[in-house]
Amino acid sequence: MKTFDEVVAFHGHACPGLALGYRVALYALKKLAGRASDEELVAIVENNSCAVDAVQVMTGCTFGKGNLIFKDYGKQVYTFLRRPSGDGIRISIDWQPPEETGQERKMWVRYMKGDHSVKVLAMVHSRKMKKIGLILNAKDTELLTIRRGKMILPVEARIYPSIRCAVCGEKVMEPRARVTEGKMVCIPCFEKE
Ligand SMILES: [Zn+2]
Ligand SMILES: [Zn+2]
Repeated sequence: MKTFDEVVAFHGHACPGLALGYRVALYALKKLAGRASDEELVAIVENNSCAVDAVQVMTGCTFGKGNLIFKDYGKQVYTFLRRPSGDGIRISIDWQPPEETGQERKMWVRYMKGDHSVKVLAMVHSRKMKKIGLILNAKDTELLTIRRGKMILPVEARIYPSIRCAVCGEKVMEPRARVTEGKMVCIPCFEKE
């Protein structure tokens, strides 16, 4: 199992979102046992926050391999399932960070207004580290709402033929091409029309 430090090394910084993703992935791996070596474990993530980096590093479900599926729902929900059985787990993060002190709120406002003085940065940093510590040490039940069962299997990643965009000349996967005035074009060129 990867450590939180390894996840931080991949992501580039430690942050509360990453810590939440780490806890989600840890829980899923514990319950579903094992890391995906091919496509057997699939993750469906409903946001594209820092947390998703932790999910990728920990579970081996990655965007490039096609066993990480991104649904742009803006929800802190992560579903993991086994292919082909469909056995899975749906994890919804339900965590309330502790109330900020008046001082913390004041410093945060100053930070957002561009005040990056030593004093402000120190407070923002310590608030962040405090949150990370709380997340890493919380009980599963304090962070996660779990549903287990059979999940709907997403369609397997397929390899599609490429065509050449009639406007920019770059290659594009056929199902993503658009037709305009009888010509096949890529989405950026289509949207420029
Ligand atoms: Zn982050
Ligand atoms: Zn084009």
